[in-house]
Amino acid sequence: MSQTIAADCVVLIHYTVKNDADEVVDSTAGRAGFSYLHGHKNIVDGLEAALQGASAGAEIAVTLAPKDAYGEHNGIAPQSVKRREIPKQVRVEPGNQFVVPSSNGKGVPVWITAVKGGRVTVDTNHPLAGKTLTFEVNVVSVRAASSEEIAHGHAHGPHGHHQ
Ligand code: ZN
Repeated sequence: MSQTIAADCVVLIHYTVKNDADEVVDSTAGRAGFSYLHGHKNIVDGLEAALQGASAGAEIAVTLAPKDAYGEHNGIAPQSVKRREIPKQVRVEPGNQFVVPSSNGKGVPVWITAVKGGRVTVDTNHPLAGKTLTFEVNVVSVRAASSEEIAHGHAHGPHGHHQ
């Protein structure tokens, strides 16, 4: 009997994400796939909902409005900051994300969008914010999560290492 996707399952998927111009913006092609812990907001809300109840072998395509994917664009323009203002542990490369401390203690996630000379452009919007996206997903496998994975809130690799 094959397991269906429910909270506290580790799910391995292959996926392709397309924007509304049918351009591929993200994909696991050429990679081993992507595994995540279901029910813990490891993936965008709309996709998690679409995968609920599916089992290995399922092919699911779902088109999500921004609010169900990476959120609406917050209207705040990217900002240029000095490279030395970026925390030392951050790899300063376009696409990388880090969290800036905020007064409420939760921190604000920001994405690096450009690096030029001593200046770095950072954006508080996810690169796919404000976009309607179609996710084409192939469910490769579904298994129960370990108690350690549930405690950590994310999936671990095949040998128990952090991914
Ligand atoms: Zn962990």
